[in-house]
Amino acid sequence: MRPELLMPAGDMEKMKFAFAFGADAVYLGIPKFSLRARENGFKDLAQVAEAVQYAHALKKKIYVTANIFAHNSKVGAFVKYVEDLLNLCKPDAWIISDPGMIMQMREHFPEEVIHVSVQANTINYAAVQFWQKSGARRVILSREISIHEMMEIRKHCPDMELESFVHGTVCMAYSGRCLISNYLTHRDSNQGICTNSCRWQYKVLTKDAPAGEKAYVPLKDNFYLNEATRPGEYFPVDEDENGTYLMNAKDLCGILCLKDLRDAGIGSFKVEGRGKSVYYVAMIARAYRQAIDALMAGHTIGAEHMRDILATSSHGFTEGFLRGQPDHEAQRYDQGIADPGEFCFSGIVRGYDAKEGWLTIEPRGVIKAGGQYELCVPGGNTPFPVHKIMNARGEPCLEIHGGLHLCRIPYGEDPGPCALLREKK
Ligand code: SF4
Repeated sequence: MRPELLMPAGDMEKMKFAFAFGADAVYLGIPKFSLRARENGFKDLAQVAEAVQYAHALKKKIYVTANIFAHNSKVGAFVKYVEDLLNLCKPDAWIISDPGMIMQMREHFPEEVIHVSVQANTINYAAVQFWQKSGARRVILSREISIHEMMEIRKHCPDMELESFVHGTVCMAYSGRCLISNYLTHRDSNQGICTNSCRWQYKVLTKDAPAGEKAYVPLKDNFYLNEATRPGEYFPVDEDENGTYLMNAKDLCGILCLKDLRDAGIGSFKVEGRGKSVYYVAMIARAYRQAIDALMAGHTIGAEHMRDILATSSHGFTEGFLRGQPDHEAQRYDQGIADPGEFCFSGIVRGYDAKEGWLTIEPRGVIKAGGQYELCVPGGNTPFPVHKIMNARGEPCLEIHGGLHLCRIPYGEDPGPCALLREKK
């Protein structure tokens, strides 16, 4: 079995790069009904239909995500949305978590293929059988189970499609089943507007201190939690002067587990990140594309397959629950923001003037004359010495900053339609 590489498509451009860099399939969200309500480039039906047509022209698959837990007011609206979209195009599947929405789909659109979202938190074979009997074709298994448990699920459910997340940001709670964001900011993660409050910096104040920064003293070395019925077990509650990030999970990276996942019967490897940059999507797609191809050719997946992953920003990596219960190493205690990675994203190539030998680039970071850059295309990376930059007015300049203004840089050949510029850090 050749597993599918399923990449996120936050907008049309990210989708094109995902396919160009190796995705077999993408998933996109519809703002009112999926968990990426804000970072979403598919605002209307026509854009979704255009994406579906683009994917199908490449003979690739595209899944529409509608995985909120719907309040009453959204049930009828969802049915209407599906009806309107099906008048324009036919996605390969619908990713849904709410049992009521799944039932509505079965009743109104029995021909449509349903994948049960990770938000449904499916962690055992009986639940997979339940979804199979409910008419779903595929279950996206919970991130909180091990490969060993997946094998057991496969044994009991031999003809159900199984999908597993292999890469991306993870929640501190069962995927999305969390009210931290709702509590702190009134933005409900289960309605697609999580503020990632788990990654914020928290401080613990001593009981006697009046609230406020002046009274704040970091807890150091001698504060512990102790559960009442576990005498002698102490959980340290340390902070430094910046506070603590005690709910801040590292990112999932399961690339070294792909063989075991495939052998366990996982047919689709999914990457999280509809809100991430086009550069992230391209690099992670290429890393997993090469790893899956190596696996299918009978080769071992190793450190060389990590190169593109390490070239992107992250919160550090963990294999999550794939090899069993994660320990404290799965958390990041020192900072909430992501590390930059070995390269940073500098720009998107928007065109090539073959007559004059100039690339047109949309800067996404600072581009400096004399900096160490690389041009990344699906087939590889090429060192790209930037000696000269022309700004949007056609004037030479030493550096240019990310924004809407295009710049031009001399280059010897046309890199093709999906090329990115990045800088070595
Ligand atoms: S606050 Fe964190 S744990 Fe909670 S839903 Fe958002 S990302 Fe997940």
